[in-house]
Amino acid sequence: MNMEAPLIRLDDVSKVYKGPAGDIHALCDVDLQVGAGEFVGVRGPSGSGKSTLLNMITGIDRPTEGEIEVAGTSLVDLNENELARWRGKQIGVIFQFFQLLPTLTIIENVMLPMDFCRMYKPRERPERALELLDQVELADQAYKLPNTLSGGQMQRAAIARALANDPPLIVADEPTGNLDSRTADRIFELFESLVDRGRTFLMVTHDNNLADRIPRVLEVFDGVLHDNGHNGNGTNGKGH
Ligand code: ADP
Ligand code: MG
Repeated sequence: MNMEAPLIRLDDVSKVYKGPAGDIHALCDVDLQVGAGEFVGVRGPSGSGKSTLLNMITGIDRPTEGEIEVAGTSLVDLNENELARWRGKQIGVIFQFFQLLPTLTIIENVMLPMDFCRMYKPRERPERALELLDQVELADQAYKLPNTLSGGQMQRAAIARALANDPPLIVADEPTGNLDSRTADRIFELFESLVDRGRTFLMVTHDNNLADRIPRVLEVFDGVLHDNGHNGNGTNGKGH
């Protein structure tokens, strides 16, 4: 049993957006703990609060109420600059539409988090980026621009970028939502291999076939989180 503090801890987290038609309760009193090394899925209908939940954990957005601790850091204590640097080191973020910078080559995109957080010596960064691209079988595309790649290749480049600073936590918001099912399957296998190598992984998905393969799946309905525990068929679940 893992006696260490959880990697992610949310205590009574609520998020209210002010809309023209009134308040939108995107998250209601969410409690959550995720241990280091877990592979956790998040599913739920569109608009249920999945992205809001991820944005709380990455510090991309702030809760209206409640406390959030990730990798030993209490996020409410950090200002925007501190949050951005903290996120750059501790979390790799993967999006549905990849969010690669279109005017930078693939290798430059992968080096960006290292440059931003001043991780690794400048002359070591290109070599490290190439190694990461090699891990996702994309080394031969390193000097191309993103728009010359397929969707699956762009997502693999985004995965290499997410790994740039060797973060303990990776979060992905519908990372296979824009990919065909065969490509999605290969991307998912890549995620599984990251978990096998000790990363903690949190993934929002609409794809029930993939969700069924994730050891622990959370469901969000109308901002309320339901923890269904473990699927029972995964190998990465840890007791908690
Ligand atoms: P999901 O990712 O599950 O589709 P979201 O977390 O994006 O859902 O959204 C949850 C709810 O919060 C929705 O009603 C959405 O319209 C609302 N919402 C999300 N972001 C904002 C925002 N920046 N401003 C106002 N409302 C928002
Ligand atoms: Mg969403």
